[in-house]
Amino acid sequence: METNYNGNPLLEVEQLKTYFPVYGGLMSRLQGYVHAVDDVSLKVYKGETVGLVGESGCGKSSLAKTIMRIVPATSGSVHFEGKDILALKQSELRSVRADLQIIFQDPYSSLDPRMTIGSIVEEPLIINKVRDKEERKKRVLQTFDVVNLPKSYYDRYPHEFSGGQRQRVSIARALVMKPKLILCDEPVSALDVSIQSQILNLLKNLQQEFDLTFVFISHALNVVRHISDRVCVMYLGKIMELAPSENLFDSAYHPYTKALLSAIPIPDPTVKRERIFLKGDIPSPKDPPAGCRFCGRCAYAKEICSKVEPPLSEVSPGHFAACHLF
Ligand code: SF4
Repeated sequence: METNYNGNPLLEVEQLKTYFPVYGGLMSRLQGYVHAVDDVSLKVYKGETVGLVGESGCGKSSLAKTIMRIVPATSGSVHFEGKDILALKQSELRSVRADLQIIFQDPYSSLDPRMTIGSIVEEPLIINKVRDKEERKKRVLQTFDVVNLPKSYYDRYPHEFSGGQRQRVSIARALVMKPKLILCDEPVSALDVSIQSQILNLLKNLQQEFDLTFVFISHALNVVRHISDRVCVMYLGKIMELAPSENLFDSAYHPYTKALLSAIPIPDPTVKRERIFLKGDIPSPKDPPAGCRFCGRCAYAKEICSKVEPPLSEVSPGHFAACHLF
């Protein structure tokens, strides 16, 4: 399906902030806030896959959980098909969640070990008040078929299966309500490399078959490249660069993105690429630096960088970067 970037976005995140309070000391007093997501704006269009990448702690998973209202937003808005998710009552949220699903990283802890595979996949149907038991079973088995799970798994338990099979169960649970958008939070990180490509190919096929839209979160750039139409690079709770996948991988602007790309292994031993090693550690998200967040680690930092935060600006058509060099 061709993505229409001129139409209304399916998901629109505007100036979203998610701060987590930090308590400490003898009296457990409030000591500050972790700025997990800090003023993030992002549009996701029907039929596309937007990859979210960055080192661990950059805020990509917190962003997904805030969109789903698993964690509360501090400020900003999230619109899905024009509805402000953050303002919905619990009862209204339920119907939106049928169209907006999430798959988690760890297929071991995200499936309840006391429930059968059939009841795990059936649960969203019960929550969404599909009352007919036969109808629910029919839809569960149809979904098993779609994700290539044998029907004989219906009465079995998660511990009987491998990581890849469990992740298929997680995908089935997300798919059973026929959603429009799925947030995939590191869905292949816990799997063996050979199984990763099976799951990625399954997601790609499902996207075509069901007109799905994905937000695909991963710390692995090569995985994101394989599946994404556009890629968004995050660092310390902020977007550093956003571009069509090809542009980002072939001609990144931001020094942080360039450093991440330089670390991707090249399978051809005759091709050499200079690795960019970043100095220092990622600063604490509790006390992020003033100006550009990447300032302390950037080889190109200028005086202005530590004082003025660079806005995310369109450097070339559809290609945005938050850097004073551009
Ligand atoms: Fe480096 Fe300055 Fe650009 Fe930040 S704004 S990435 S410190 S050059």
